[in-house]
Amino acid sequence: MKIEVLGCYGGVDPKHNPVTFLINERYLLDAGTIVKELDINRQKNIESICITHCHLDHIKDLCFLADNLILSGNPNGTIKVYGIEPVLNMLKKFIMNNKIWPDFFEIKGTKGDNILKLVPIDMGKKTQFGKELNIEAVKTCHSCDSSGFIIDDGVKSVVYTGDTGPCNALWEKISKLKNLRAVFIEISFPNHMKELAKITGHLTAELFLEEIKKLKNKGKISFYIFHIKPHFLKDIKKEIKALKMDNVHILDDGDVIEIN
Ligand SMILES: [Zn+2]
Ligand SMILES: [Zn+2]
Repeated sequence: MKIEVLGCYGGVDPKHNPVTFLINERYLLDAGTIVKELDINRQKNIESICITHCHLDHIKDLCFLADNLILSGNPNGTIKVYGIEPVLNMLKKFIMNNKIWPDFFEIKGTKGDNILKLVPIDMGKKTQFGKELNIEAVKTCHSCDSSGFIIDDGVKSVVYTGDTGPCNALWEKISKLKNLRAVFIEISFPNHMKELAKITGHLTAELFLEEIKKLKNKGKISFYIFHIKPHFLKDIKKEIKALKMDNVHILDDGDVIEIN
């Protein structure tokens, strides 16, 4: 499984993109950064996207991707947008509602296909995600309706938390995965902002350490850290390095990870 980091930060400035991961050239986890990093030919390769929650840093480029695809004739058909029902409902009601942005779930391309299609998934139920992968939504604890995802290619699985604060249900669920190789997990705030992190449904390096103690899986699991607030980047990196864990990796935009 090849995972390319199009964006991995919990904020935006000239050097840092909001969160999106591209799997095997065709599948996206969240949609914070797409059109700035993928040229139009690579945008046309996208088949399916899963959305963890509706905060703008995770969805904004879905709007611009849809716009680019209709202009280029929507050559590869409809893109499926997966997520738990409350998240997809918000996307349609508050974003692509023909007021904030055109409703690309209804608009058709030149071949008559819809540009985007909503695919609601039930929490805890495995769902086919493109030809190669299965996804399963897992509970996360954020400040709005949200889920993380288990992504499984039949041999190995990875977990993508999206945004989450401390969350027992998440760790109970993923502790049962026998083929888990990696967890992509957020750390947003420095340790001294622990209370704000908890209130807003995020983690600090210290909270991350407490959380991963809940993981019962045997075998070595890698942790890839994303969603660092660029404003606190130096401090948070220092705090993560102070954990002295060789299986914890801090992501940067443009990184490519092979999960074997
Ligand atoms: Zn976020
Ligand atoms: Zn969020």
